[in-house]
This record gives sequence, structure tokens and C-alpha cells, in this order.
Amino acid sequence: MNNTIIYLDYNASAPLRPEARDAVMCAMDCGGAALNASAVHYYGRLGRKIVEDARRDVATLMGAHTNQVLFNSGATEGNNTIINHFARAYPEDMILISAVEHPSILELTQHYDNIKTIPVDENGLVRADILEDMLKAHKTSLVSCLYAHNETGAIQDVSLLCEISHKNGAFFHSDATQAAGRIPLNIQNDNIDFLTISSHKIGGPQGVGALILGQCGQTPTLLHGGGQEKSARAGTENIAGIAGFGAAAKQALADRDLYARLCVLRDKIEAAIKSTAPETVFHAKNAARLGNTTFFSLPKGNAQSLLMAFDLEGIAISNGSACSSGTVKPSTTLNAMGVKPALTKTALRVSLGWATRESDIDAFIKAWEKIYLRIKA
Ligand code: PMP
Repeated sequence: MNNTIIYLDYNASAPLRPEARDAVMCAMDCGGAALNASAVHYYGRLGRKIVEDARRDVATLMGAHTNQVLFNSGATEGNNTIINHFARAYPEDMILISAVEHPSILELTQHYDNIKTIPVDENGLVRADILEDMLKAHKTSLVSCLYAHNETGAIQDVSLLCEISHKNGAFFHSDATQAAGRIPLNIQNDNIDFLTISSHKIGGPQGVGALILGQCGQTPTLLHGGGQEKSARAGTENIAGIAGFGAAAKQALADRDLYARLCVLRDKIEAAIKSTAPETVFHAKNAARLGNTTFFSLPKGNAQSLLMAFDLEGIAISNGSACSSGTVKPSTTLNAMGVKPALTKTALRVSLGWATRESDIDAFIKAWEKIYLRIKA
């Protein structure tokens, strides 16, 4: 593994926090036995304690009670669980989703006829009046709006959108995968019905996450089988993963001030880019944004070659959009925001996190200046 790489792609996946690594290792290494939280014997009780301690730490991060946290395999599962449940349980009603949802929600429009997208403004935000009009026009079971955007970092006014949805008889879900641990969240205060989160965005291991249930009394279920997670999510618990998730949640809460510090570093990046390349467009610049994220485009070029140029300089960043099998596709989010096609092809995302140092940002800026001089020549 190349340890000299400067990693600025936290919105894709954050490096494992040391506390999470310790918790995972401790749960995996139990001296010739296996932890199974359903077993009656000693190792079962030990496994159960690890799961319930982690549940408490995740609940605290989300302003929830422990009985509101259902562990699963991550936010893709959480999002699918919610949308599948409402699409099937209320086939006559509409599901309204914002046009800038993560693919784990957007893709489901191809599988159900009763999902409609809510247009967004130039900052990628859902306008309350448009949502209200759509709710009045269609009997709606569920509204789903991303809390904070994975590409732009734009933060929606989720409590207002939730209030409007409830007023019009719809449940409200928010994918809080990028918001968790980065801005204060409290499912009770916002009165949200469902939140999805993922461990690896907050420095826990990959392949574990949670669905946080509000007070609406519905428990969407994707996997049936054994009675795990109160029969709401069957399958032997991923105890090591859950242990790491809990440790990461606890540490993310303790690191509350981190994002104010990262915001200063993010602004330093944006100021440096602007001074070398004043023609750069910063996306969602007029929205409240996560302090760790910047997403920008140059009027010419393409993201793929820029990403490769940064890679050669030892800097890992991203184009932000769904990137499968190594190919870079133009961002559907930027399309939905009405950004010109030429700009969607050059968009780059830099996202910072718990281990980012000012020297990483200085190295990024140095590489940027070098690469920009080359492409300008
Ligand atoms: N929602 C958002 C906003 C995300 O950024 C991601 C991860 N890219 C997901 C959902 C999917 O999360 P997971 O990897 O845990 O399935």
C-alpha cells in the first residue's frame, strides 16, 4: 500500500479511524471462538454486549434512542429498504424523491412506476413551494430528500421539507450518509421518520450501516429470515463491523469541532484555485455546504485526465459522480442543477476528513498549480 498518497476523497470513503480499527480487531479476535449475538453462551453474551454498546453510540450521534437504530450493511441497503417498502406497501400512492439523490435511490425509479423526482434549483436544493405543489397534485406515501449531498456538500432544509411532507400526509426519509458526524443531527428534533447512515463515511469499516427509525411506527423490512434486529433485518449480525461503526460514531461525536477546522482548509483550497484559475465554477456555492467538501469545474478539459494527473502527483481525489468500473460519467446531479454540459465533464470533488492536515492541502494546491499550468499551456 502506498502510504505517501494524500487522500482527499472522504465523501467516497473515509479512512478507518484507529479507535474503529481497535474495536474491529478486538471483536474479530476472540481466542478460537466466534461471537454470535443470538447465542446463549458466553460468546453470545459478549457479542450481544458489543452490538448494544455500538447501538448506544450510534443512537447518541443521531439524537435517537437505542430502540430506533437497526443495523444493516450500509446506506445502499437502508435506502433500498425504505423505497422498496413504500413502493410495494402503497402501490397507488406516489413516492417523491429529489432529483439529486444518490444512485441507491435514483436507480429505483427504473423499477417502480410510482416514483417521481422533485426538481432542484441551481444549488441542488429542493424548493419548498415545488414540493408542496407536487404533494397537492399526487397522493404521496413518502418523500425522500438527501440531507447533505455527496458531490456538492449542499445541505437541504430537511426539517422544513419534512414538515411540509407531514402536513400533506406523507412520511419523510432522508439519506443522511454524508451529514452524519459532520453536522449536528437529531432525528427527534427534526421529527424525521427515517434516516439512513453508513459506517465508512465516518471512519468506521465498510459494509455496515444503520436505518434510524423515527416515531411514525412503521418498520420497513428488506430481509426476512432469523429474528435479528427485532425481525426487521434478518441475518447474523456483522459484530466486528458494528463494533467499528460504534467506535467511529463515538469518535465522530467527540470530534465535533473538526468540521469548522476543515471548513477553513476547504476555503483555502477554493481561494487558491480561484486565484490561479478565476474561470473555475464552484458548484452549490450559494447553499449551506458541508465544511469538508468542494466541487468545481473548469470550462474546458475532462475530469478523467485531471484525476489521472492528480493521481500521478500522489493525490487521491474524485470526480464525485457515480464511477463504476473505472469509468467517469458526467454527474447526474450537475445535470439536475442545470449546469452546462461542458462543466459536468470537468467536475472534480475534493473532500476532507478526520486525518486531513494543512500540509495535505498545501500539497494539493501545489499539484493543482502545476497541473493547471500544464493544461493551460
Ligand atoms: N448515500 C450517499 C449520500 C452516499 O454518499 C453513499 C456512498 N457513496 C451511499 C448512500 C451508499 O452507501 P454505502 O456505501 O454504505 O452503501
